[in-house]
Amino acid sequence: MGRHYYIAGNWKMHKTRTESAELAQALVTELKDGKHEYLVAPSFTNLETVSAIVEGTNIRLGAQNCACEEQGAHTGEVSVLQLKDLGVQTIIIGHSERRHTYKEDDALINKKVKLALKHGFEVILCIGELLEEREAGKVEEVCERQTVKGLEGVSAEDLANVVIAYEPVWAIGTGKTATPQDAEAVHAFVRKVIARLYGNEAAQKLIIQYGGSVKPDNAAQLMAMENIDGALVGGASLKTDTFVPIAKFS
Ligand code: PEP
Repeated sequence: MGRHYYIAGNWKMHKTRTESAELAQALVTELKDGKHEYLVAPSFTNLETVSAIVEGTNIRLGAQNCACEEQGAHTGEVSVLQLKDLGVQTIIIGHSERRHTYKEDDALINKKVKLALKHGFEVILCIGELLEEREAGKVEEVCERQTVKGLEGVSAEDLANVVIAYEPVWAIGTGKTATPQDAEAVHAFVRKVIARLYGNEAAQKLIIQYGGSVKPDNAAQLMAMENIDGALVGGASLKTDTFVPIAKFS
């Protein structure tokens, strides 16, 4: 099937340069024999520092967002060209905080996805329902819409550089985790959507991470599910004590 486990840490708007360097250095040491694929996504301001530390290791460098245009008059935005220049390999796009706090819609997210793929980045496309959408029985409808619209115009060839992160919004930073069974049901559904769009072989190869209060004590149960291929970790990625056991789950 060609899938492997992929564990990513989203550091969000945490850490100074010095703190980011310390964490990155510790992870390089702790994960050098790790069996899975790894990524850390520091703040833009700390990318250059962390880039120098993770370069040539088994830890990929990710950015948490990018602008939807290559360059130009876009005050406060960061372009894919600038990210590439810093050694960024992967861009997280459509995180729930971008969708809901900063009001990014599917069309904007799709523009960013296509631009990042055009420039050779791996994209982690985040999808996931709000609590009220889950309570209204709309989980599949929301996840299907975010997947289909997020990937509109993405070729089968480019899909090979896409990872999907299913992150139910009610589970992010709340300490509430989807049960492995509930998460698995959505992952299997999303894989079916991808099979319809790109064929079964592409769907079987797609890595689908779970995100939402992943911790050392629930990582292994989640990863044991057939369609859960890794994790996008927020809070627990900020310390080696919590990220390393997740990254080395067995
Ligand atoms: C996230 O923000 O992607 C996330 C999953 O956060 P947390 O692990 O803190 O819930």
